[in-house]
Amino acid sequence: MSTFQELGLNNDLLQAITDLGFVKPSEVQEKAIPILLKSETDLVALAQTGTGKTAAFGFPMLEKIDIDSRTTQGLILSPTRELCLQITNEMKQYGKYCKGLNVVAIYGGSSITDQAREVKRGAQIIVATPGRMKDMISRRLVDISKIQYSVLDEADEMLNMGFKEDITDILSHTPEDKNTWLFSATMPREVATIAKKFMNNPQEITVGNKNESTSNVSHEYYLVNARDRYQALKRLSDANPDIFSVIFCRTKRDTQKVAENLIEDGYSAGALHGDLSQNQRDLVMKSFRNQQIQMLVATDVAARGIDVDDITHVINYQLPDEIETYTHRSGRTGRAGKKGVSMVIVSKSEVRKIKSIERIIKKQFEKKDIPDGADICEVQLMSLANKIHNTEINHEIDKHLSSINELFADTDKDELIKKFFSVEFTRFYNYYNKSKNLNIAEGSFDRDSGREGGRGFGGKSDSTRYFINVGGKDGFDWMKLKDFLKEVLELGRDDVFKVEVKDSFSFFNTENEIKEKVLAFFTDYKHDGRFVNVEVSENRGGGGRRDGKRGGGRRDDKRGGGRREDRRSGSGSRSDRRGGGDSYSKSRRSGGDSNSGSDRPRRSDSGSSSGPSRPRRSRR
Ligand code: ADP
Ligand code: MG
Repeated sequence: MSTFQELGLNNDLLQAITDLGFVKPSEVQEKAIPILLKSETDLVALAQTGTGKTAAFGFPMLEKIDIDSRTTQGLILSPTRELCLQITNEMKQYGKYCKGLNVVAIYGGSSITDQAREVKRGAQIIVATPGRMKDMISRRLVDISKIQYSVLDEADEMLNMGFKEDITDILSHTPEDKNTWLFSATMPREVATIAKKFMNNPQEITVGNKNESTSNVSHEYYLVNARDRYQALKRLSDANPDIFSVIFCRTKRDTQKVAENLIEDGYSAGALHGDLSQNQRDLVMKSFRNQQIQMLVATDVAARGIDVDDITHVINYQLPDEIETYTHRSGRTGRAGKKGVSMVIVSKSEVRKIKSIERIIKKQFEKKDIPDGADICEVQLMSLANKIHNTEINHEIDKHLSSINELFADTDKDELIKKFFSVEFTRFYNYYNKSKNLNIAEGSFDRDSGREGGRGFGGKSDSTRYFINVGGKDGFDWMKLKDFLKEVLELGRDDVFKVEVKDSFSFFNTENEIKEKVLAFFTDYKHDGRFVNVEVSENRGGGGRRDGKRGGGRRDDKRGGGRREDRRSGSGSRSDRRGGGDSYSKSRRSGGDSNSGSDRPRRSDSGSSSGPSRPRRSRR
């Protein structure tokens, strides 16, 4: 293993590297830096997140550009504003002894004139998000016609986010003979296409296996009922009092909701997603970086490439639509040689995806149980004991000591300890004392097929079939209806299935776990001026059989007014327990899994509830 010096970096950079505390190059740096320094070449570098890719292109770029010139020579494109700022910051640190260096960040949501002014002052390196960059080019606010080095960082994500056109457009304003360095964690076909299109005989380096996850991260999954997802999340957090984590949800809406619920329940949490203003996002990121927030609830896009040290856990509140994304999520932890845990909360209908992920990351998951109340109480108690043990004494107390001693004159040490701990602990105990076991047995469940074994199910036992009162007459065919449902419900590719369109009504399926969301959404939804009604159908539509053949479609049709009953008979609806009839649709409207359930632990200072106050931790 070589040193940075042996890789051929100059003294200004070596000095900065020492300041940063980098002792030896990471593998991708060891491979990429000599190639980029020695030759004028295009490069495709594949390495998992957290392997030090920024420095792998950053050092060579800083070494190669002419700092005495004010011409823009290096362009780094990155998918998100956060990442753009992070790279800019890193580049500035790497180049802090390079006198006259000017690195400018260009990204949306912030004054374009300010950015243009900064560029005008002479930026040798521009770090940009594609959208804003394109904008500035078309307004002639930047000149990239003399670029010598361009970097596509997180190329896979940029393509995922639909930046292909923008990238093409931007690169068309750069010289033919520049070098392009592409960095990516995964190599989907789109990235290969881009490489072919824009690059000249690129050299290729791969660190580890493509898509493989870092060896510092262990992977765990927890099998629970979908409706217990939020409770499970809280328990995982409570069982790890020093958790510092990113929690991934699938949609912006879920992200916001989970974060809000956690905050309401006394956890130190924040949301990060694209619907927040830039200002809000900056604030959340700042608090998270300072570890004032323990749990950052985020969408994949918003959290992509974010490098925050010491993240102890990544929690997959829901699995991503594209399982490849899992690598990116788990890569948020276990960085810079530290250990990390990536946890997945899965329901039965998703557990088969675990196998697919194992294949991609080439690592095994460990199936673990959500800790029960007694475990959590013990962990919390010992955590409290440790905290007290390590607390520095505040000597302001000294002067009151004699009166306190007087009060406790008849209390022996054990008793005193018990009383003292009870102040904090009883709330936790009371909450978890009544708690149920959230785990569901995998039992005869076959992870490979995702089906329950032994009972000869012909179809998906864990999906819900719905009736919807639109059909061919309304201009839908099955594909249009599927697209429509996916869009309005913000669902993924495979979330709506078995769509069957009749003339004036249709059927479709989703997994049980989003049933509430589907029904809640359509309680007051209008399409073309008329209410769209969606109800649970008893026709399962399973096993690949056509509904019609089983007479199921007709049965549904005839039911008409009785549908409300069908719904109530739907499997295990939580709403049922909260009272049926009319109140039912209203309560449902308020939320998905995370939002309901009367036994949510609350902060003690919220008054009436008996839930535990979650001790807020001030982290160093
Ligand atoms: P990637 O882009 O591959 O996800 P980053 O470039 O964001 O990874 O680097 C991850 C973290 O590792 C950063 O905090 C960075 O400062 C640190 N790092 C990079 N190179 C080294 C090194 N050679 N030694 C120690 N830490 C490093
Ligand atoms: Mg990176």
